[in-house]
Amino acid sequence: MLNNSQMTESKSKVTESFRDKVATVDQKGKRIWIFPQKPSGRLYNLRTWATLVYLIVFFGLPFVKVNGHPFFLVNVLERRFILFGQIFWPQDFFIFALGMIVFILFIALFTVVFGRVFCGWACPQTVFMELVFRKIEYWIEGDAAEQRILAKAPWNTNKIVKKTGKVVAFWLVSFIIANTFLAYIVGVDEMWKNISEPLSKHIGGFISLSIFTTVFFFVYLWLREQVCTVICPYGRMQGVLLDSDSVIVAYDHKRGETRGKFHKNEERTIGDCIDCAQCVKVCPTGIDIRNGTQLECVNCTACIDACNKMMEAVGLPQGLIRYASENNISQGKPWGMTWRMKAYSTVMCVLLGVLVWLLATRTDVGFTLLRTPGQLYQQEANNQLSNVYNYKLLNKTFKDKEVVLKPENFGGSIRLVGENRMVIPKDGYATGTLFVYVNYSEIKGRKTPLRIGVYEGAKKIGTIKTSFLGPFSGD
Ligand code: SF4
Ligand code: SF4
Repeated sequence: MLNNSQMTESKSKVTESFRDKVATVDQKGKRIWIFPQKPSGRLYNLRTWATLVYLIVFFGLPFVKVNGHPFFLVNVLERRFILFGQIFWPQDFFIFALGMIVFILFIALFTVVFGRVFCGWACPQTVFMELVFRKIEYWIEGDAAEQRILAKAPWNTNKIVKKTGKVVAFWLVSFIIANTFLAYIVGVDEMWKNISEPLSKHIGGFISLSIFTTVFFFVYLWLREQVCTVICPYGRMQGVLLDSDSVIVAYDHKRGETRGKFHKNEERTIGDCIDCAQCVKVCPTGIDIRNGTQLECVNCTACIDACNKMMEAVGLPQGLIRYASENNISQGKPWGMTWRMKAYSTVMCVLLGVLVWLLATRTDVGFTLLRTPGQLYQQEANNQLSNVYNYKLLNKTFKDKEVVLKPENFGGSIRLVGENRMVIPKDGYATGTLFVYVNYSEIKGRKTPLRIGVYEGAKKIGTIKTSFLGPFSGD
């Protein structure tokens, strides 16, 4: 016979038992396949529309061109980046790196304030899984109950046709996604060539395409929610990022408990949760949101819709599961900015300001001027000394540029070797050698700092700082 404390402990073990297991793994460590029920409701419809816009942008962006050049290109292979029509070279990488830091901080801040809204509405894994591949699956195999029956059925004609149809459809969509993904890297023209020209000409492209297609196919056909619950580091960071004021998909335990079945015409004296388990049945990660927020929850909102539907059916107010903060539910505290949110926002604004400043002051031409290694100064006529330099000029625009270098802080001249003009081809670079002549009287010892102006026509577009090698004062 159990005493009171033993009973309490045992009861708590039962109710808290969800902490000891993972929804998608059984006692033997084998994967439990999730068959989520097809969601329906206001939020699901809204997400379907949002996904439509998302897909148009995702599939359309590589096709957008400005003056014949891609609007967006992330060619990591050739280290060539075009973002919003602007060319970024490896020399601009610090801007890119800062942009990435701002982006990551933005995600962190966004998570502190709005929880995992990103996962549910914008993460490609959730968007493609739940609103593209899952819809195809429901269309071919039916809702959860039919899928379960099909999974257990022997390999008869019906099963072979449905399973083959699903595999073909998943492979085709994966192939389209892989092509688009590749178009972001190599550009849409190269992507078309990959598809239309003989395979022998594009072995590399074919291999990349095959790898991408296989990975997407494998992820959406088999890996599924495991990406979010086991692999994705973002989900694992929730424990650090979320606090009791973050907005999450939350079950109103104050209103819902004590849960109990609904009986028609009965005056309800317990909590509003009718224990119908609809919220669990629709969950694509197999969790019970009534156990509190969990790292497996991708904020897909399916449980909100499912619960709202049940509440409506039994005549109780909707919103038992809703977007809310823990403090909002347990203390009725209205949502507001906490000190953490304010601190993150400040850092975010500063970084954003620096990023905007860097972008605004970014020049269209990049310059590098280095003294040719192993060369000393030369004595010239007219009481001048000369140094020889190698130059590299980058053109970050889609137009050829002609530039002229002029001495700024010294009397002397600059002469190109073997060229009359300094022309930098569009989206390319020019390299060469030049002599800088400096009046002897201006030499300040071993190293004299020089400033050279870069002009495009009459407009000065930059300054190169370098040093001029002269004799020691005792030479
Ligand atoms: S708990 Fe709700 S919001 Fe979270 S993943 Fe499951 S169904 Fe989606
Ligand atoms: S769907 Fe709503 S009422 Fe049904 S079990 Fe979940 S929380 Fe309770």
